[in-house]
Amino acid sequence: MKKANAYVIYDGPSQIDGQRIVAIANVAKSRNTKTAKNRSCYVNLGQGVLITYKAYKAGKYPAITGHDAIAALGAGRMVRIGTYGDGAAVPSYIWESLISQAAGHTAYSHQSGHNGAAFDPNIYMQSADTESEALAAWQAGRRTFRVIDKIDAMIAGKEILCPASEEAGRKTQCIDCGLCGGNSTKSPKSIAIVAHGAGAGNFKRKAA
Ligand code: SF4
Repeated sequence: MKKANAYVIYDGPSQIDGQRIVAIANVAKSRNTKTAKNRSCYVNLGQGVLITYKAYKAGKYPAITGHDAIAALGAGRMVRIGTYGDGAAVPSYIWESLISQAAGHTAYSHQSGHNGAAFDPNIYMQSADTESEALAAWQAGRRTFRVIDKIDAMIAGKEILCPASEEAGRKTQCIDCGLCGGNSTKSPKSIAIVAHGAGAGNFKRKAA
């Protein structure tokens, strides 16, 4: 396969509205999971929507298909699903392949309630906007990612603070934490983050 910075791993109908979409896996960063802080596999339109879209239109991203080839792309990497767009628009088998040999992954979706969306609780955190939405998700066996307005709003026993947040002392970052991987992670707890301070906007955007 010709080496490229990114590959088209899905080109077909959206599971949400049937419109044609593409999923692009950006693999520009290092694969070294031991020493490289920047390792990643940014999926969809990760380095700026317009730049990526133009490169895609210019034919710079080869298409790869089949489980083995897509699995090899994610092997040993920390995969971030849905840098742009909601991953549940893409059939789950694409993500299952991509993360099958990965070091870990993070994924957030707002589409759990959307009829037809490919929301798989083993892959995604459900982005919950309210406490009642989170309660319903937990009842259904899903983990949630929830932006809260103050630390007291966190539900003890069910949620933990994102360890990368200001309130939790910024102990880590997603690439090393990986707790937002739906039910595939070791932790049964859901994640909450207080909506202020540096990075909160990014978390909100990412969870959208
Ligand atoms: S650092 Fe926070 S947002 Fe990132 S994976 Fe961990 S808990 Fe999730």
